[in-house]
Amino acid sequence: IARHVQNLEKTQLVNGLTASIAHEIRNPLAVCRGFIQLLSEMSTDKKQLSYTSIVLSELDRASSIIDDYLSFAKPQLHKIECADLSQLVSQTLNTISSFAMLRNVTIVHQLKPYLYVMIDPHKFVQSIMNIMKNGIESMPEGGTLTVDVIREKDLAVVNITDTGVGMTQKQVELLGKPYYSTKTSGTGLGLMATYSFIKIMKGKIQVRSQLGEGTCFSIILPLSADPEVSVDMAVPRYE
Ligand code: ADP
Ligand code: MG
Repeated sequence: IARHVQNLEKTQLVNGLTASIAHEIRNPLAVCRGFIQLLSEMSTDKKQLSYTSIVLSELDRASSIIDDYLSFAKPQLHKIECADLSQLVSQTLNTISSFAMLRNVTIVHQLKPYLYVMIDPHKFVQSIMNIMKNGIESMPEGGTLTVDVIREKDLAVVNITDTGVGMTQKQVELLGKPYYSTKTSGTGLGLMATYSFIKIMKGKIQVRSQLGEGTCFSIILPLSADPEVSVDMAVPRYE
């Protein structure tokens, strides 16, 4: 038992360290990004502009790697509260819209309001952000990302559909496994975090995909009976 406790403390120490290091690195990265952006706006030189755009995209890659790793290191407490699902989805769409525009992806959405679910809003937003990002990245030539929030009996469903490269059944089965990535600069950690977060929120994820046609991720959550409750829940991570 003593050894078990010791290992547990070690894990917590490492988690805490990772979280604070990630946090400390994020700030200087953001400062660099801001100044490089300014520099690129001041320049008309083609060569300089091509260099600054590489710096910008590499800085973004660095922060997305931190984002993916940070989601593991976050404290174990999940703040589960009652939230309007479409409001959170709409908030996420705002955040992701420039990322989509840069990649010639049009976002179409239809969000049914007043569907209340018990979730950790921050982790939920991170979860659907991962799915939307993957959807956009699956359309290198551009395309359409369709996001719908609907009600099905006592369930709320978020459908995120892309017109991208699609997956084989085998690939679909590998989703959520740690470090599974087919991208040259992918971490293979985004969906692992997403799957475990949604599971903690008593939700389910269904994936339908057709190679060369596209993919639809459905997040299915039970509707909350009482829209006022709010609880703090300590949940072991990734179980
Ligand atoms: P990463 O994006 O860093 O590769 P993820 O965990 O987010 O890691 O995704 C894992 C893999 O799942 C991706 O590399 C990709 O092969 C596949 N994938 C996920 N979403 C889609 C999608 N919408 N269309 C096609 N492939 C996808
Ligand atoms: Mg990803």
